[in-house]
Amino acid sequence: MRGAPDTMQVLRPRTPAEAVRLFGRHPEALPLAGGTDFMVGWNAGLLNRRTVLDLSPVRAWKGIRRTRAGLAIGTLATHARLRDDARVRAAFPLLAEAASVIGAAAVQNRGTLGGNIANASPAGDSFPPLAVYEAVVRTVSPDGERRCPFLEVFAGPKKTTLRPAELITAVELPSLPKRPTRQMFRKIGTRAAQALSKTVAAGLLWLDGKGRVEELRFALGAMAPTVRRLHAAEAYILGRRLTPATVDRAVELLAEDVSPIDDVRSTAAYRLAISRALLRGFLQG
Ligand SMILES: Cc1cc2nc3c(=O)[nH]c(=O)nc-3n(C[C@H](O)[C@H](O)[C@H](O)COP(=O)(O)OP(=O)(O)OC[C@H]3O[C@@H](n4cnc5c(N)ncnc54)[C@H](O)[C@@H]3O)c2cc1C
Repeated sequence: MRGAPDTMQVLRPRTPAEAVRLFGRHPEALPLAGGTDFMVGWNAGLLNRRTVLDLSPVRAWKGIRRTRAGLAIGTLATHARLRDDARVRAAFPLLAEAASVIGAAAVQNRGTLGGNIANASPAGDSFPPLAVYEAVVRTVSPDGERRCPFLEVFAGPKKTTLRPAELITAVELPSLPKRPTRQMFRKIGTRAAQALSKTVAAGLLWLDGKGRVEELRFALGAMAPTVRRLHAAEAYILGRRLTPATVDRAVELLAEDVSPIDDVRSTAAYRLAISRALLRGFLQG
């Protein structure tokens, strides 16, 4: 194969403890989960002589568990699993929806939630749902375990705040305080399937009995170097009714939290226009 590595050391831990020990001894190793992003580097010949830490045999990290606080999704849970799991679909439907539009069946069957996060693409489709569900990422390294608020995992495009020899082990999803009045996931790409996002959005809205906003959570991907919550619009709309004027103002405030760019997939102007339309449509109901 062109560009195939001429030598490669593959470490294959079977338990979490073994994975931590091996990564501690080989901090230069590259973790491998489902390999869907990883294989792009392999094919480009970028992995020659790299040491690979193949996590795929670690069964303890594949499951989805109910916890007292909500659900804990093992880092190796695949998108297909998230798409189909009844507990995820019932309690966190926006994440199941995102999983169902990541690549196509082959990528969904192999790609993992932990791999999606660690890859840190600005357009990761699971990110807006994880941002509005206020997920917490659990990690482990030879220094011990850590819990990191989801948005703090990202340092920039393809860059995380993971420390040397640190692995993602699970994603915690806290149960929502109550059922949202409205919820939405939308991915806008060039095609309906097999497309990377031009923009990707998730929203949760709670209204009180008088139609006033109790809480809005809205997140956008592919609109900044990392996924963003719309803090300015969320804070403004709190306690207000969704009149044409307040919706207009919230939509105007969207630009305070994002900084889209022109790139091969789209233009900044289109990204802004379509994201504003998604927020407006969501607030108008
Ligand atoms: C054809 C194609 C279409 C795609 N479409 C989409 C799409 O529509 N939407 C989307 O969001 N993504 C898409 N992707 C990207 C990719 O499939 C996802 O990001 C996937 O979730 C990656 O998971 P993985 O298990 O395959 O990761 P891998 O490729 O195994 O790893 C990805 C990165 O994460 C690191 N890593 C993996 N697990 C861990 C861990 N537990 N701790 C620390 N680091 C870790 C690896 O070292 C590597 O740097 C696509 C990819 C392909 C090839």
